[in-house]
Amino acid sequence: MKRVLITGAAGFLGSHLCDRFIAEGMHVIGMDNLLTGSLSNIEHLFPLEHFEFYHHDVSKFVHVPGHIDYILHFASPASPIDYLKMPIQTLKVSSLGTHNLLGFAKVKNARILVASTSEVYGDPLIHPQKEDYWGNVNPIGPRGVYDEAKRFQEAITMAYHNFHGLETRIVRIFNTYGPRMRVEDGRALPAFFSQAIRDEEITVFGDGSQTRSFCFVDDLVEGIYRLLMSDYHLPVNIGNPEEISILDFAQEVINMVGKGRLAFRPLPMDDPKQRRPDITLAQELLGWNPRVGRKEGVAKTYEYFKKVVV
Ligand code: UDP
Repeated sequence: MKRVLITGAAGFLGSHLCDRFIAEGMHVIGMDNLLTGSLSNIEHLFPLEHFEFYHHDVSKFVHVPGHIDYILHFASPASPIDYLKMPIQTLKVSSLGTHNLLGFAKVKNARILVASTSEVYGDPLIHPQKEDYWGNVNPIGPRGVYDEAKRFQEAITMAYHNFHGLETRIVRIFNTYGPRMRVEDGRALPAFFSQAIRDEEITVFGDGSQTRSFCFVDDLVEGIYRLLMSDYHLPVNIGNPEEISILDFAQEVINMVGKGRLAFRPLPMDDPKQRRPDITLAQELLGWNPRVGRKEGVAKTYEYFKKVVV
């Protein structure tokens, strides 16, 4: 039986990955320090014979007994508000944490996939973003702790591949949404849904003309699974290229919930003005395409938020 270690297992993406690898018939070892993750995302897995959980911070030495075939490194705060609250942990998990896991992968002779991000492109001057774009990142701005840690993560992952011959995969994840996002996460979609459901002001930062491209979590997980099983070690964008302004997105949420008033707030520093993945590489390499349109995905996510927003 294949055995897979998933870090950040109690988080939004990590928990969906645990579900997927269990469904593939693998033994899943989840690891999380529960800084931003929540056990409620994986409690349905605890009764399973082929799921184990380690409450551990991957920034510290990592050890798990027995063989490991695959490692997926998904531990990290992932919301701009969290970077401000936890800047040192954000830096450590993708630098020291990645180093620990690469060393662990080497010892176990395992294949490792690391979660990188569209943030490596910073506030991009090229649109849409292709993998060969080097980015426009402010290293000392509020997002620098995340962006630079993820850029370091890519560099050290490539070094382990080139120097040690380790089997590595790098996915650059664009904005993703779906059930199990944290209600108080501060990102656009959880903020807008919780505000609309509570009949509070919908906080649009700036004039809302900045764009994002939102991918439903099931599509993302499919892309990641295919990349892990491929033999390609360079970074691959996974995301949905359907682009929308934040103002239009807020309006879509208001229309769906049937209430909510727009309120404009100052634009946070270094907030990227536009973001859309070029997914030609993923299409050609993995035969992958996002399947869930925003309307369907946002409706499914609304069902989740209706249950958890109080
Ligand atoms: N945003 C907003 N109101 C909020 C939260 C976010 O207008 O309450 C904007 C934010 O300024 C950014 C976009 O929505 O332009 C997406 O922000 P998010 O925090 O979801 O992730 P990012 O893509 O910036 O990492």
